Amino acid sequence: MYDIIIIGAGPAGLTAALYARRADKSVIVLERGTFGGQITYSPNIENYPGYEKISGNELAEKLVGQAIAMGAEIEMAEVTAINCKDGVFYVATDECEYMSHAVIIATGSKHRHLGLDREEELTGNGISYCAVCDGAFYNGKTVAVIGGGNSALVEAIMLSDGCRKVYVVQNLDYLTGEEKLISVLKERKNVEFIFGSVVDDLHGDNELEGIIIRNEATGEKQRLDVDGMFVAIGQIPENEIFKEFAELDERGYVDSDENCTTKTPGLFVAGDCRKKQIRQITTACGDGAVAALAACRYLDR
Ligand SMILES: Cc1cc2nc3c(=O)[nH]c(=O)nc-3n(C[C@H](O)[C@H](O)[C@H](O)COP(=O)(O)OP(=O)(O)OC[C@H]3O[C@@H](n4cnc5c(N)ncnc54)[C@H](O)[C@@H]3O)c2cc1C
Repeated sequence: MYDIIIIGAGPAGLTAALYARRADKSVIVLERGTFGGQITYSPNIENYPGYEKISGNELAEKLVGQAIAMGAEIEMAEVTAINCKDGVFYVATDECEYMSHAVIIATGSKHRHLGLDREEELTGNGISYCAVCDGAFYNGKTVAVIGGGNSALVEAIMLSDGCRKVYVVQNLDYLTGEEKLISVLKERKNVEFIFGSVVDDLHGDNELEGIIIRNEATGEKQRLDVDGMFVAIGQIPENEIFKEFAELDERGYVDSDENCTTKTPGLFVAGDCRKKQIRQITTACGDGAVAALAACRYLDR
């Protein structure tokens, strides 16, 4: 029996662990993939305060090390279900069941991938899912943005400020984002739209050098020589297992208030898995602190 079980060892979960341990609560963090979460995919982080530049792996090591040094337990386990009865949470994993008086969901979200061969291998070496994070590395270069919704348009606008050329490749024959964003983008001289097309293949050995796009109507293929490809075709939160105990919005994110609470007393949420505007390391850490302190207040009530 723990005071707090934290599901997910990304920046949100690890910050929550730190705050909960400082309040002397017993804490276990359950992680199914990589200790450190999504940041481990980022070769360079330049927007985390205190570090001019740090690799995702190094920051992850620091976050994990600090949580362990504070006395948090961290286990490799996939949470498959949760239940709550008489104020006790039962957290089932692929191996066993854990119990606690409070739970913090910090499961993050995944960027939707194109599903191409070598996409994982070239992520961080030309392929990115975040212009805010990686756009500055492509100043003066040529990039493609894949997608035509609001996030793709925002990324394309941001990239067109510094890049020599930005292709926007959209599978439909029109853009689906807001009219205001579309008109801003259409004004930009260095932006070219390619409609009705999908990415078929990736070129480059260790770094992305080009992409092959295919027109879905004609089947015609074309190579675009690009230094970077930003995939902005949506994100997928994985919160289905919590839906009995936490309200999910129409896109599957956990709906919560400013204190990171949910509809179930004792169940809190932090980081990218929650409904919010900005998904970054700093905002995930902020949520982790808020959720942990709210959980401590709940336990001390
Ligand atoms: C390539 C890339 C580059 C990025 N670069 C930057 C950057 O430069 N600056 C910046 O601020 N942000 C960057 N981001 C965004 C940043 O990584 C995220 O905003 C941040 O990691 C969110 O933290 P989190 O803890 O909420 O979620 P995550 O980091 O996603 O961590 C959630 C963890 O929960 C685990 N999990 C999920 N479900 C379960 C389950 N059922 N059981 C157990 N564990 C589970 C996952 O495996 C994961 O490790 C980048 C993202 C990517 C993908």
